[in-house]
Amino acid sequence: MLEVKNLSVEISGKPILRDINLNIGKGSAMVLFGPNGSGKTTLIKTIMGFSGYRANKGEMIYKGKKIDDMSIDERVRSGIGMMYQHPPKIRGVKLNQIARFLCDDEGKIRDLAHRLSLTEHLARDVNFDFSGGEMKRAELFQILLQDADLLLLDEPESGVDIENISIMGGILNEYLKNDDKSAFIITHTGYILDYIEAKEGCVMINGKLWCVGDPKEMFDSIKEFGYEKCKECPWLKRG
Ligand code: ADP
Ligand code: MG
Repeated sequence: MLEVKNLSVEISGKPILRDINLNIGKGSAMVLFGPNGSGKTTLIKTIMGFSGYRANKGEMIYKGKKIDDMSIDERVRSGIGMMYQHPPKIRGVKLNQIARFLCDDEGKIRDLAHRLSLTEHLARDVNFDFSGGEMKRAELFQILLQDADLLLLDEPESGVDIENISIMGGILNEYLKNDDKSAFIITHTGYILDYIEAKEGCVMINGKLWCVGDPKEMFDSIKEFGYEKCKECPWLKRG
């Protein structure tokens, strides 16, 4: 579904991502670990096509097409969606309005809002005075209404309590059971691994993808030994 080849990204002349190679198959979920500031969000924003996040080397192929020169708009229309790590607050735009823009099925909007406990938030300005967990649920709400095929999830569970992680995880898992849907998920807490059947995980350190392996084993190792150990890990293929 998405192939990233030898991708390097500089921001304001500073190299952030170096020679990234990544392959996310159709219908599969991949998890990305890595310390703060290693470049995880930059990778997702580059895939999404944010201004200022352009590759100076390499290419990205999505559904068989090179997307490097596509606008964000075109990427969204072709099925790429993103959940922000820090969602923007949008004064004057109601969650309801965005929901109707993304989806014309009123029943689906109401049902999903209910399942994510967002019914009362529909009439409010997007993310304005939402709690951390409400913002994350609203993000999930929007990306699922968009019916994205490739979900780029930037720390979907950060700031979300255990009960809500379980609700979000269950809904995400159900969505990803569809063989046409894929996900690339950044996680620090690893909680999401309890809900999503991710076959592969990878670790980013200093703008490089170091290795690819079983996400649960990788996360256990990270918890026990920290990220430095990842670089030496014998049972993982180096990226
Ligand atoms: P992570 O998500 O892994 O915590 P980020 O991708 O957010 O890391 O950031 C990687 C590095 O790139 C950081 O040093 C960050 O300050 C820098 N960076 C990201 N975006 C910008 C930007 N727009 N301008 C300047 N530096 C940036
Ligand atoms: Mg980040």
